[in-house]
Amino acid sequence: AKIKEVEFVKSSGRAKDCPKDDRPEFAMLGRSNVGKSSLINALVRKKEVALTSKKPGKTQLINHFLVNKSWYIVDLPGYGFANAPESARMDWSAFTKGYFLNRETLVAVLLLIDASVPPQKIDLDCANWLGRNNIPMTFVFTKCDKMKGKGKRPDENIKNFQELMRENYREHPAWIMTCSNTGLGRDELLLHMSQLRNF
Ligand code: GDP
Repeated sequence: AKIKEVEFVKSSGRAKDCPKDDRPEFAMLGRSNVGKSSLINALVRKKEVALTSKKPGKTQLINHFLVNKSWYIVDLPGYGFANAPESARMDWSAFTKGYFLNRETLVAVLLLIDASVPPQKIDLDCANWLGRNNIPMTFVFTKCDKMKGKGKRPDENIKNFQELMRENYREHPAWIMTCSNTGLGRDELLLHMSQLRNF
């Protein structure tokens, strides 16, 4: 499950503008500030790659990165901007939902959840929406290093999140603990993805 090569392919404003080949892909999704860029950087170990999608104007687009010329990591716009007007949030959901419901090459959504905070309604809503629409998903908990200090209780936050989800799923989604600072969970996540795509 080694990443030898990563290239930025394109940014798309609509699902139907995404690359049209049939390579499998994994979509990375989460609240803004969840640590998505950091995780992509940790995965590919090339800083310039994820930075591409942090450039002004690119954060609201679907960004495709081709890995080893054989599969894609897709960086989706973050949701739940604290200060975004309601209209912008609606735009986000219409456009991203279009991607989820129409993208045949999507292997799974990697739903990033900040383990340093208690379960957030918006994350639960998102997971429930994906579940209801039968979109395969893996929970990727971020910032799992924040074990120490006041109010930082990743183990408990993760457990609570899982319990809230358990009511809604017959088969509980796979989950992985990560920390981009230490590289925790990196190899496990890569292995998990290679198993899902079957090569
Ligand atoms: P994005 O908006 O989802 O792309 O989030 P970023 O990757 O830009 O990270 C948001 C903030 O969380 C930054 O200040 C990061 O330094 C911090 N962060 C990201 N990953 C980790 C992590 O694994 N542990 C800790 N402690 N902080 C993290």
